[in-house]
Amino acid sequence: MSAKFDPTCLFCKIAAGQIPSAKVHEDDELVVFKDIHPAAPVHLLIVPKKHIASLETAEPEDTALLGRMLALAPQLAHDQGASNGFRVVINTGPDGGQEVYHLHVHVMGGPRPWSRMG
Ligand code: 5GP
Ligand code: ZN
Repeated sequence: MSAKFDPTCLFCKIAAGQIPSAKVHEDDELVVFKDIHPAAPVHLLIVPKKHIASLETAEPEDTALLGRMLALAPQLAHDQGASNGFRVVINTGPDGGQEVYHLHVHVMGGPRPWSRMG
């Protein structure tokens, strides 16, 4: 079982409030904040408070958490002004373009054109 908090992990530290972020949602299991380099007018990161390195290392016990992350996306996107659709992306591993090894769901929306990943 993975450790719940990795003191070397950027998103663990953001989730714990040790590094500031523009948070738009927080509950007992998840935190959601704005991407520091937005690829679209709305660009959110849905992050579990528990340290899970990537989708590849998620375990069967994380299935409900993964479902909650996706289920939260439409309301968040709408609340942030993405009223005409949105994209969800989970970059996984080196060839998946993952840069931060703490599981996160990108939620991107807003009027096009977008700058990248579009
Ligand atoms: P990945 O490539 O791992 O799927 O995405 C990592 C994302 O985290 C990138 O889009 C990047 O802009 C974002 N990011 C990296 N460092 C920070 C930070 O310190 N704060 C916030 N809010 N976003 C970050
Ligand atoms: Zn972490």
